Amino acid sequence: MNLKDIKAVKALLAEPQKIVIIPHKNPDGDAIGSTLGLWHYLKNAGQTATIVAPNDYPKFLKWMPGNDAILNFEGQNKQAKAALDEASLIFTLDFNHFGRTGQLAPVLEASTAQFIMIDHHQAPADYATIMYSDVQMSSTCEMVYNFIDFLGDIDKITPEMANCLYTGIMTDTGSFKFASTTSKTHLVIADLIDKGAENTTIHNKIYDTNSPSRLRLLGCALNNLVILPEYKTAYITLSQAELDKHAYKKGDTEGFVNYGLTLDGIHFAVIFIENTEEGIIKISFRSQGDFSVNEFARNHFNGGGHDNAAGGRSDVSLEETVKNFTALLPLYTDKLNK
Ligand code: 5GP
Ligand code: MN
Repeated sequence: MNLKDIKAVKALLAEPQKIVIIPHKNPDGDAIGSTLGLWHYLKNAGQTATIVAPNDYPKFLKWMPGNDAILNFEGQNKQAKAALDEASLIFTLDFNHFGRTGQLAPVLEASTAQFIMIDHHQAPADYATIMYSDVQMSSTCEMVYNFIDFLGDIDKITPEMANCLYTGIMTDTGSFKFASTTSKTHLVIADLIDKGAENTTIHNKIYDTNSPSRLRLLGCALNNLVILPEYKTAYITLSQAELDKHAYKKGDTEGFVNYGLTLDGIHFAVIFIENTEEGIIKISFRSQGDFSVNEFARNHFNGGGHDNAAGGRSDVSLEETVKNFTALLPLYTDKLNK
């Protein structure tokens, strides 16, 4: 963020605003952690602030301080709509185009509020008065930490905020191992621990909440793993029937895609998950090294994300989706084998 933008934010926040904070649809640890971290900061500064999530999210994210105040646009539409109608200022966190907010998109489109974007994805859309967009950043949570620092308020980070921000940095960096993790990320994490983030507790709350059915679903996914050594690629499929058989709950497949990358010599990992209710196949892409899954998802599967982690969707059957996918791989032989 440049000095002009920092000054502009300070001027906006010097006045009482009616603020709404929005994470992307199917929010993850970074989306919930960053919105809650910012929410505590704004509330403590005397602002009126409400978080509106486009839809529900997994239980393993629902322990963060302030969670109960989050409105779900699907479940609490009236209250959420009222907050949005009144909003003078809307923060959009961890996404950069309205299409990532599902049914909220037309509401945001029609809003007369000013927008502030804080985000680390590629190709930001042009809707925000103030745009803090940086694709080098590990996570939106690291950016919210910086944002508070830019405003000169680093000492106002409370233990509640520290716990929320730590969570999102941890989940978006695969526990501090992805290439986006910098020495600065570790310095931020260290400061958040000093400010009250309970690191061991957070790891337990996010990663050690397996149910027996989720572990068996993982077994099923790994059993379905297909390895294509000639393309350094591995993919997993999960049909709706397989999800049903294992009492699937939102969030149960989180992290499954990463197992493909743990294979020696595999640089591209994919999971295809059938969702009959939405009539789509939800796809997650992960890579190691130079192969950009953001481009791949953008070009072929109506999605996007980061160079090494992206998502997308397909509107044809699971079988056809996989067929289309494997037919694309020969086009990328060189890039995948680099
Ligand atoms: P995941 O595979 O965990 O759902 O998402 C990986 C990354 O890709 C995240 O940064 C997420 O925001 C982004 N992403 C996931 N699905 C989509 C999508 O449908 N469109 C776009 N543009 N980004 C996505
Ligand atoms: Mn993120």
